[in-house]
Amino acid sequence: MKCQRPQYFHLPPHTHTTRTMHKTILGIEGTAWNLSAGIVTETEVLAEATATYQPATGGIHPREAAQHHATHIASVIRKAIKSAGDAQIDGIAFSQGPGMGPCLRTVATAARALALSLNVPLIGVNHCVAHLEIGRWQCRIDDPVMLYVSGANSQVLAYRGGRYRIFGETLDIGIGNALDKFARHAGFSHPGGPKIESEALAATEYISLPYSVKGMDFSFSGLMTAAKEALKKHSLANVCFSLQETAFAMLVEVTERAVAHTEKNDVLLAGGVGANTRLREMLEIMCKDRGAKFHVPEKRFMGDNGTMIAYTGLLMLASGESLSIEESMVIPDYRPDQVDVTWK
Ligand code: AMP
Ligand code: MG
Repeated sequence: MKCQRPQYFHLPPHTHTTRTMHKTILGIEGTAWNLSAGIVTETEVLAEATATYQPATGGIHPREAAQHHATHIASVIRKAIKSAGDAQIDGIAFSQGPGMGPCLRTVATAARALALSLNVPLIGVNHCVAHLEIGRWQCRIDDPVMLYVSGANSQVLAYRGGRYRIFGETLDIGIGNALDKFARHAGFSHPGGPKIESEALAATEYISLPYSVKGMDFSFSGLMTAAKEALKKHSLANVCFSLQETAFAMLVEVTERAVAHTEKNDVLLAGGVGANTRLREMLEIMCKDRGAKFHVPEKRFMGDNGTMIAYTGLLMLASGESLSIEESMVIPDYRPDQVDVTWK
């Protein structure tokens, strides 16, 4: 699908050099269950193709997901290049981390091979930073506090002093994993988040569950275990509702404190759990109270997508960032605050 980059979009001033003109970057995402290739130029998204691994039973199995990516990666890349009108590619960006080791290695191998065969630069992109960059672009904002809530990750990020700093994060599992594990226990298939959301609509009562914010961090595994226990005494709808209310209140509290501390005026939501209407509603209320603006990117840019990797790769390449093959090893625990934001 070809989508016009909106009018508001402009690259940061220092990237407006002849060096950056007419670059077309292909980005590959495959940190977990979504394999996706996106192609962008400075002015538009040319194409995106995706293949999603669906576990037969249980949660995501890293080696099965990697096998899925290995099986589909050639066709996903071919499809993206074809729908971009066989555009000439000037650089290959890939998700270097964080993510599941076997999945990351599969994508990195394809990215290296492609960069070598096309003789173009290879760019290693931090997946969390890419969520933030695509959100900034999509929502026309420069400097947000971002709440990133996905299966494996839960972080509150904001720019300060040349890096995207982590103001708060989960001390154990990601919010999405917590929801999925509870949902599996309750008999729902993967992914559980949307099923919990619809079940919660039938709730009649709030049940008290452990609320765990420590400093600026939060934790979900105790809450998830308590929710499983609560199922012995309470209805599924009431537990789903209470689980959401408690977990989301924790996320919103930390986001609010990051907004207060940084004095930023925009809040950006990213990650698969960001699809949840109740979470959005709670963030919206908090932002309204604080006089901040709440931003949600288009759905296809909220979850994992190749376009965000291509777009961040483009920004990075424009500021002179690329990797040799030797430097391109994957980093399963890659933190966004390890990245120097040279393009902002
Ligand atoms: P991601 O890791 O960003 O691909 O996001 C996947 C996670 O988002 C899974 O844990 C899903 O259960 C969760 N998710 C998707 N839709 C919803 C929803 N409507 N409410 C809560 N969680 C959701
Ligand atoms: Mg993600």
